[in-house]
Amino acid sequence: MDQFEDYAGQSVHVMRLQAEFQNGSFTHAYLFAGPAGTGKRSVARLCAMAALCRGERKPCGECGPCRRFLAGTHPDVHVLTPMQGKRDIAVGQMRDMLKEADVHTFEDSVKVFMIPEAEKMNAASQNTLLKTLEEPAPNTVFLLTAVHMSALLPTVVSRCRLIRFHPLSDEQTQARLRALGVPENQVAVRAQIAEGCVGQALAVRDETIQLRNEIASLFFSAHTLADVPAAVNRFKDEKDNRAVILDLFEEIVREIIAVQAGGKQPLTLPQEARAYVGHVPLEGGLSLRERIVEARKMLQSYVSYQSVLETVLIKISEEYSKWPW
Ligand SMILES: [Zn+2]
Repeated sequence: MDQFEDYAGQSVHVMRLQAEFQNGSFTHAYLFAGPAGTGKRSVARLCAMAALCRGERKPCGECGPCRRFLAGTHPDVHVLTPMQGKRDIAVGQMRDMLKEADVHTFEDSVKVFMIPEAEKMNAASQNTLLKTLEEPAPNTVFLLTAVHMSALLPTVVSRCRLIRFHPLSDEQTQARLRALGVPENQVAVRAQIAEGCVGQALAVRDETIQLRNEIASLFFSAHTLADVPAAVNRFKDEKDNRAVILDLFEEIVREIIAVQAGGKQPLTLPQEARAYVGHVPLEGGLSLRERIVEARKMLQSYVSYQSVLETVLIKISEEYSKWPW
């Protein structure tokens, strides 16, 4: 089970939250805001469970209330999301949920109201919620989560304790992924793709990683002009991934330049690409970067994907012949 400590890097407020929920001094409403995949909902769930927990160290994950929370069967927990097929949280849904705030608790503890996509409340729902937030019933806690805080009424935001979440550094993301049991050969690449949002790093599909590895090997497969047609042929059907291909080419080139400029050996590239990076001279890297920028422009001006790929690979093969092996 997650612990508050696991999210301490994502928001400076997380450890204070743990203390508040541990000693029961939590306030009546919190808004967890920040980019997708930074742990907002996980922390909101820890707060909910800690508010209900009867264990020593909250949330213990083992007492009756914790177990019921984890099973999604705790009678004092209400989670509000749009009805199936609807975009908004309708005012009727909001009213129905808020009626529960006036009823006594089933387990004689705290009533928890969770709104995991708070930006989906329409204006009427938000105004209805606002009245409750202005005069909160005792023993209730509202836990709102939002990526786009601008969709919320300023009056709603100001009635909540705001907890901002931020993406992690690359090192922190990698450490977290390791702790979550992500295989070592996927840690760096997942961290790189997700740009500090652990949830997004976990959501990267295996096919995406596979494609990345193949693109990296494509980059280094055109050793001479004679190799270009075969390399183009191998990727000619990947038209839908043309932007991804150029992005990764650019990433490889950026790392070539970084290494030649005295940076450390990169860890984010697939193994196959890493072996080459240190061999490419700085001028080669810079010249390849120019060609990739041009290729992006060519794609925008409707030059065919296949011609663009061919042009870039020809340039790479020209450079390749100059590298000191
Ligand atoms: Zn517990």
